[in-house]
Amino acid sequence: MVKAIVFDLDNTLVDFMKMKSRAIEAAMIAMIDAGLNLTINEATDQIDKIYKEQGIEYQQVFDLFLQQTLGRIDHKILAAGIVAYRREREAALIPYPHVYSTLNKLIRSGLKLGIVSDAPRREAWLRLAYLNFHHYFDEVVTFEETGQRKPNAAPFLEILRRLNVEPKDALMVGDWAERDILGASGVGMKTAFARYGDTFNTLSHNADYELTDISQILDIINSQV
Ligand SMILES: [Mg+2]
Repeated sequence: MVKAIVFDLDNTLVDFMKMKSRAIEAAMIAMIDAGLNLTINEATDQIDKIYKEQGIEYQQVFDLFLQQTLGRIDHKILAAGIVAYRREREAALIPYPHVYSTLNKLIRSGLKLGIVSDAPRREAWLRLAYLNFHHYFDEVVTFEETGQRKPNAAPFLEILRRLNVEPKDALMVGDWAERDILGASGVGMKTAFARYGDTFNTLSHNADYELTDISQILDIINSQV
């Protein structure tokens, strides 16, 4: 009997990759407008390279980008890029279709809701607050809570402890088979693969369920009575 649903955040509740690429493109257009002498493709390729080396949450990406391309930080160009990035990020950070209605129905059914994210705590909470998700979820476990990343058991065990549910009574929903699904099934949780958020062209995921739309969680819950 499922009593709690635990969600991954990025590419499961929100289309993080789309948000990121739109925000970066807006930032590069603004930097070029402010005097940066590169094409958009050259600039975005360079940013992609930095993210690959430093991680997708790297916060000094524009400083390093300008150091690498200009040999110094031009603060007019930097500021133009940061402002454009923030504006576009806010506009582009939206949940997948049917996320809010599904969460509302799950809450009305008396289910507890949690999030397990590998994102840094501050960045994860900012995304949650932008979306008003901080009012929906009973518990949130980010990287700092355990210092371990999925598929390590620690973050899964921590969210189960906080939600006060047995692993067999919890359903994990995530887009990353090797992290979300493997880690959750390893501690005995039920699992649902978020196919709609898959950016890896995942062939096999070994989850109990596959979702092409997040609202299909309601079918899973309704079918178990
Ligand atoms: Mg994810």
